[in-house]
Amino acid sequence: MNRPIEFTHEFVEFVPKELKERILYVSIEYGTAVHRCACGCGEKVVTPFGRTDWKMIYDGDTMSLHPSIGNWNFKCRSHYWIRENHIEWAPDWSDEEIAAGRAADRAAKQRQFGSQQSNPQRPAGSMSDERPSASGGWAGVKNWWSRIWKEHR
Ligand SMILES: [Zn+2]
Repeated sequence: MNRPIEFTHEFVEFVPKELKERILYVSIEYGTAVHRCACGCGEKVVTPFGRTDWKMIYDGDTMSLHPSIGNWNFKCRSHYWIRENHIEWAPDWSDEEIAAGRAADRAAKQRQFGSQQSNPQRPAGSMSDERPSASGGWAGVKNWWSRIWKEHR
């Protein structure tokens, strides 16, 4: 799956219903780009542009997207960059790395939008009801530690 793949780009107002393979459809109007997964599985990949989403670099000739495109939700789980209209395959990520990447993405979005948006059910003030169990957890660790300490004396 590490074969070199060339893309072309097309500026569109609306994303067409039928997407051709190896074309990056860019809609400035809607601030998003769409393409079919570079591995050839046919899945539709939507990459919205934004400060915490993708950025596009158009040099007048070719298109690059940043950051990489990780299709974890697809069967293929392909991961690649689009750089100057060609596909650069990324090494496979472990589940832990995917989780870490998602957590970082969530954190970045929370910094920008505040925690209310990602957690609309819970008003900010109700977080306090989680504290007793958190401190109980820490006390539990200390008890466990002092028990071990005594046993080894
Ligand atoms: Zn794919």
